[in-house]
Amino acid sequence: MTIETILPTPDIFSARRVLCIQPHYDDNDIGTGGTLARLAQAGTELLYLTVTDDLMGVIDAPLSTEAAQQALKRDQFAAGKIIGVQEQYWLGYPDAGEYDTFAMRRDLLKYIRLLQPDLVFAPDPWLTYEAHRDHIQTGLATAEAVIFSGLTRIASSDPAVDASYEGHNLLGVAFYYTREPNEIMDVTSAWEAKLAAVRCYETQFNSEGMEELVMALEFKSRQVSQGKDFEHGEPLKILHPSALHCGF
Ligand SMILES: [Zn+2]
Repeated sequence: MTIETILPTPDIFSARRVLCIQPHYDDNDIGTGGTLARLAQAGTELLYLTVTDDLMGVIDAPLSTEAAQQALKRDQFAAGKIIGVQEQYWLGYPDAGEYDTFAMRRDLLKYIRLLQPDLVFAPDPWLTYEAHRDHIQTGLATAEAVIFSGLTRIASSDPAVDASYEGHNLLGVAFYYTREPNEIMDVTSAWEAKLAAVRCYETQFNSEGMEELVMALEFKSRQVSQGKDFEHGEPLKILHPSALHCGF
């Protein structure tokens, strides 16, 4: 008997609707775009929720805030079309700013209760050597929202959503950007789609930066696939909600 007998690791392909929570516009696609494209191909409904406004990563310095917002969304919709994203939501927290994780948790509780996904994706907040606080805070707030989604005494940011929420079966969470994966997803069939989606983020990468990113993704995807019978892999830590508490 293993702990998975009691707290089964969710099969991500059994999810009909997934909510992919990301700190910045491009993180879902960079971190796990191959897996998400495969899910979309299999008929899973993909919903993206972007936590920050991402304005600090815009490389064109003279661009106005309004033009930068439009450019970021244009890139994101182009990439989303390739991956198969059905709906995009944004919270607009200041990129690399000073904000409250509890406020973010309330917003994430709202969207989990409102959209009722079977599975949630987010960056692994326990990634060693992750210096970007937006990634850590997004992962932590997501993990808390996953374990607290059924406890409506813990308020979301929308009382009307809480009042009408009757609970739903959330299979768990899949963390991307992880050093402790329990699954390496075979994304070989979706690799070209992933790179095409990543290449849409022109507002945040010049051509040199983009080539460096693509090379790093190529290297990493082959490295995690060593000894496996596929070429390109994405590491995920997939956990049952109750495995997010007290060391189970
Ligand atoms: Zn990011």
